[in-house]
Amino acid sequence: MSKRIYEHPVLRKVVEGIPNKFGSLKRLQPIATIDTVEIDSIISKYGSPVFILSEKTIRQTYRTAYRAFSTRYPKVQFAWSYKTNYLDAVCRVYHQEGAWAEVVSGFEYEKAIDNGTPGTHIIFNGPDKSDEDLIRAINNKSLIHIDHFDELYSILGLTDKLKERPQVAIRVNMDTGIIPQWDRFGFNYENGEAWNAINRILSSGTIDLIGLHIHIGTYITVSKAYATAVEKLAALANKTFDRFNVSIGYIDIGGGFASQNTLHGAYMPATDTSPSFDDYAHAITTAMIAADFPNNETPMLILETGRALIDDAGWLAGTVLANKRLADGKRSMVIDAGVNLMFTAFWYNHEIYPVHESSFQSEPTTIYGPLCMNIDVIRKNIDFPMMNKGDHFVIKRVGAYTMTQWMQFITYRPNIVMIDEKNNVHLVRKAEDKEVFRRQELVPEHL
Ligand SMILES: *Cc1c(COP(=O)(O)O)cnc(C)c1O
Repeated sequence: MSKRIYEHPVLRKVVEGIPNKFGSLKRLQPIATIDTVEIDSIISKYGSPVFILSEKTIRQTYRTAYRAFSTRYPKVQFAWSYKTNYLDAVCRVYHQEGAWAEVVSGFEYEKAIDNGTPGTHIIFNGPDKSDEDLIRAINNKSLIHIDHFDELYSILGLTDKLKERPQVAIRVNMDTGIIPQWDRFGFNYENGEAWNAINRILSSGTIDLIGLHIHIGTYITVSKAYATAVEKLAALANKTFDRFNVSIGYIDIGGGFASQNTLHGAYMPATDTSPSFDDYAHAITTAMIAADFPNNETPMLILETGRALIDDAGWLAGTVLANKRLADGKRSMVIDAGVNLMFTAFWYNHEIYPVHESSFQSEPTTIYGPLCMNIDVIRKNIDFPMMNKGDHFVIKRVGAYTMTQWMQFITYRPNIVMIDEKNNVHLVRKAEDKEVFRRQELVPEHL
């Protein structure tokens, strides 16, 4: 039997009224495996830290979301939001499940094509589309969602040079009761800009208006806001039909569904407060069915859900680097994954767990990342068990935006693996090394 590690005693103030209204404090249960694969074995093979994706969770979550909408509305199409996680392995899982691609740059557009997405199944959003991007999208008959008048004029300028008629929608922004109101993207509904854009498009005679698009924000916990958006878009569709005799083929309601990650300052855990896919689907499809679209038509309903589909499928495992006491005696712990890999730690209380039972004693602890940067805080002052240098931890729900917004700062970006449905582990993105930097950098001759 190995010698047990000494743990010094701590004095803790007894707080009256325990258990509190959520019950008594639960001991943090370690998480040793993901889809039956030992986290320790992944770290020993792929290094620390390491991102781990569960293909099973990606597919299951997608199917739950798809079912919620398709059982309530006849024509439903999801388009995977590339910027949320554009690893090819991830995108291909969604495409296999039937999702189209939703891209916001030429780079993402190229990735979608390379992942085998037909041009007609690519939705091209965003304020930054070069003429070259637009020409390619028009020739491929992709769905171009126009963000501003300058983009509309660029497209109009290209039509006489191209054989294909551009297939466009406009992005609309509006008051749906959500604060802050995102009005920097698309054309405003209330001040008449959206109607103005529709008039210009349809009076040109050279562009096809096939849909209306909105993306009201992100982490929207009020499902009713989507119903308001549907009502206003339906009004635009009706006005368009009355004036131009043109039917709108689809309503794209964007993304923005909240994931199960809890925001900083939230009183209750998001697992208790975030609406479910059924809640969102109920609000949106009820509004779609109630809206009087021209000729009693039912436009296709497109969804561009990002974070709510992938967050749960991503994990970040790593190693404890050190324990130390802060000036006031409070405990802190340093781990080898910081805000460089989890930008999302700035707004989420990411759940962190030991991989193995390390101590029966827990204490308020601040968990820092490894960066030489004061703001590199993963969790502030949480009740956490004692872990030792070299112990492994795992962080839950890091599938969304981490692997696309990560920063290369101070150290290399790590490996990403995916566990397939048969529980085999695949490397899906290699860790960076100094060769990556050698390839990119040039040194002037005099140096
Ligand atoms: C980012 C984005 C999405 C995905 O948003 P989530 O909040 O992750 O669901 C969808 N559509 C557009 C236009 C976006 O910019």
